[in-house]
Amino acid sequence: MAFKSIVIDSLLNKITTKDKLFLGDYTVDPYSNCEFGCLYCDSSFDKTIYVKINAAEIIEKELQENKKGRIIVGSVHDPYQNAEKKYMLTRKILEKISKYDFSCHILTKSDLVLRDIDVLKKIKDCFVTISLVSINKDTSFIFEKNVIEPIKRLKIVEKLNNENIRSGVALIPFLPYFSENNIEDLLKSFREHNAKYFLFKHLELKGDQKKYFFKILDKYYPVFVKKYSKLYKDSYMPNESYIKDFSNRMHKYLIEYHIPSGLETI
Ligand code: SF4
Repeated sequence: MAFKSIVIDSLLNKITTKDKLFLGDYTVDPYSNCEFGCLYCDSSFDKTIYVKINAAEIIEKELQENKKGRIIVGSVHDPYQNAEKKYMLTRKILEKISKYDFSCHILTKSDLVLRDIDVLKKIKDCFVTISLVSINKDTSFIFEKNVIEPIKRLKIVEKLNNENIRSGVALIPFLPYFSENNIEDLLKSFREHNAKYFLFKHLELKGDQKKYFFKILDKYYPVFVKKYSKLYKDSYMPNESYIKDFSNRMHKYLIEYHIPSGLETI
């Protein structure tokens, strides 16, 4: 993994169509690419992490010029990957978000977010969503081997909520034939850890990601190659009937476990 500091001209990206899943008006990514290397994610294809060294300075100007709204921090690349321990760009950006009274939604898989509880408490309306593909340690170890194990991620959610910072879980991406295996265990754990909301979305395989993911399947789970080929035939999304069926099943579970689905419900 290589690290390269870059000087940027702009950081804040305005979302043109309202984002219903993460409820954001803007996105911000302090780093380009991601060290965690989850096997389903194209953020890890490039082995150079670009560190936007003047990010805090740039966002300060942008926050003064733009209408207030919610900023999704880490919309594409994890804002609490290891580089953040050294560069602290995410922390500096959050300080600016707090100073200019914007709200935010942080997406991460890392417990480094706990370092910044003091700043998060100062932000007017802050959510932290922790994502995973399964509560099952073995599944997670194959697909997300550089990230802390799922149960430890649930503990981050618990700690944040105990500090009055709203935090929930995202089963994103939902990996067909893998994520469906321990959903009830995940929902039980969700309740035990006092998570506030649950988000889910199926796996998308765009461009080279599809070819790469099929190679992974072939290596670790050859038995699923045919099934995935059928599911993702001619598209980056699973076929419509699968999406509909999976969504219905998820909603049924969420009702059964009295779990709020989506950020708009909390
Ligand atoms: S932590 Fe997130 S951004 Fe990083 S490789 Fe994994 S899924 Fe991609």
